[in-house]
Amino acid sequence: MNMPRSGRAHYGTLSNGSAPRFDSGGARDARPLAAIATSIIRGLYGVACRALPQSCVLCTAPSGAALVCDACEDALPRVAAACPRCALPSREGATCAACLAAPPPFDAAVAAWIYAWPADRLLQALKYGGRLALAEPFAHALARACRHRRGAVPAAWPDVLVPVPLTPARQRSRGFNQAQEIARHLGAGLALPVVRALARVRDTPPQATLGVPERRASVHGAFAADRCVAGASVAIVDDVMTTGATLAAAAEALRAAGARRIEAWAVARTLAPEPAHPCPIDPCSTSCSSTPRFRRTPAT
Ligand SMILES: [Zn+2]
Ligand SMILES: [Zn+2]
Repeated sequence: MNMPRSGRAHYGTLSNGSAPRFDSGGARDARPLAAIATSIIRGLYGVACRALPQSCVLCTAPSGAALVCDACEDALPRVAAACPRCALPSREGATCAACLAAPPPFDAAVAAWIYAWPADRLLQALKYGGRLALAEPFAHALARACRHRRGAVPAAWPDVLVPVPLTPARQRSRGFNQAQEIARHLGAGLALPVVRALARVRDTPPQATLGVPERRASVHGAFAADRCVAGASVAIVDDVMTTGATLAAAAEALRAAGARRIEAWAVARTLAPEPAHPCPIDPCSTSCSSTPRFRRTPAT
């Protein structure tokens, strides 16, 4: 669906018009009738959702045609000033020291929310609960963040959106790719083509169980570009940017295929864990040191 140009529920029709060679990912669909049927079902579902009053998925208050009410959307956690390269908090939005020391393989990163309650609950409802309708408000939020970023740091819009792919086996078992669903709404609203230009050439262990170095090692070489992106400006789309390792590996594959500029767009960004510090709880437990981000300061 195309949305109006401004406002909280809007994101404008934006395209630099420089990517005529790109079509949508559906062009590769070997079963056009199935694709048409899917499109019709999605359209009817959208009409039904807008015709029926919704309850906010977070607080259950009436939310009109939206899935998340205005109050809950305002309460979703956001980074006030983020590093333009990694989307982590930085002083006055300047490039952070980590990115200055070791720039990531993408040129810019944008995230709409911080991956913390209740945004994490919403994203999990899409990814693990199959609430596909949530992909649309996620796309709204991500588009708003991208527009806001371009207001602060002017840059041309990308030629094409590329969702982070799943392996065929993972896609079969889940039944959908959450990044593809978000990118589909994002592309429709921004009038940018969505192209499945990446393939996941090998599976990777669940990232949630790994530390930062292990994540980077596990996804290195996991992607390959299987469409020509030479000279193109590309935005990779994913649901969550945790350490950035997955998006970095995807960016490296697109760069190797000749992409000129690469941005990493995610609905939510996991904040860096707090630096290690002595556990204030005595006696300390091993689980405490393994998950410092969730450690609570004990009452005094
Ligand atoms: Zn609500
Ligand atoms: Zn940074």
